[in-house]
Amino acid sequence: MTRAQREKQNTHCGAIVWLTGLPASGKSTIAQAVAENLHRMGFQTAVLDGDNIRRGLCADLGFSVADRHENIRRVGEVAKLFLEQGVVVFVALISPVRSAREKMRQSIPASDFIEVYCSCPLSVCRERDPRGLYAKAESGMIAEFTGVSSPYEAPLNADVTLDTSNDSVEKSVSRLSGILLDKLRNVAAP
Ligand code: ADP
Repeated sequence: MTRAQREKQNTHCGAIVWLTGLPASGKSTIAQAVAENLHRMGFQTAVLDGDNIRRGLCADLGFSVADRHENIRRVGEVAKLFLEQGVVVFVALISPVRSAREKMRQSIPASDFIEVYCSCPLSVCRERDPRGLYAKAESGMIAEFTGVSSPYEAPLNADVTLDTSNDSVEKSVSRLSGILLDKLRNVAAP
């Protein structure tokens, strides 16, 4: 079956929705909630979460620049497989290197890739620290931690920027859901 056939049956387009941002900026929370919203509306959705991916598919990778590139490459390739099935696939991945995200974007048609920047100051992310990772990084227990001992390169031209320090989770989720609904549901029913 072709992607077009699946999209026609789904009555929506497939897409890769790539959420990037500092650790604890809200990527996973927002990706899960928006995926659930769209699912309730009959969309085919999937979520690829950086933490889960690192426990399995990318368990052999560390956090050097080369390994971060490889991590993004693998996740991107998996996301493309979902895209080919007409699924809206959310990728929640720090993906701190701008050039690696751009490479990913350039490997598929522009309209299939939606970069979402979860914009949140480091100080707020540090304060949230839901899994205690900033604390561990600051005490030296975790090396090469983005925001502490490894840089994060914010997008220059994200398709969507969510202000996840000033806006509530609900507001960001509702805004991104609306944008995706407008953009993706224009495939005629069979
Ligand atoms: P990431 O995937 O970017 O590491 P997570 O979604 O795992 O981030 O964690 C973000 C944490 O911050 C969650 O516990 C979430 O409930 C909390 N949080 C508090 N306020 C907000 C907000 N306005 N937007 C997003 N997340 C928020």
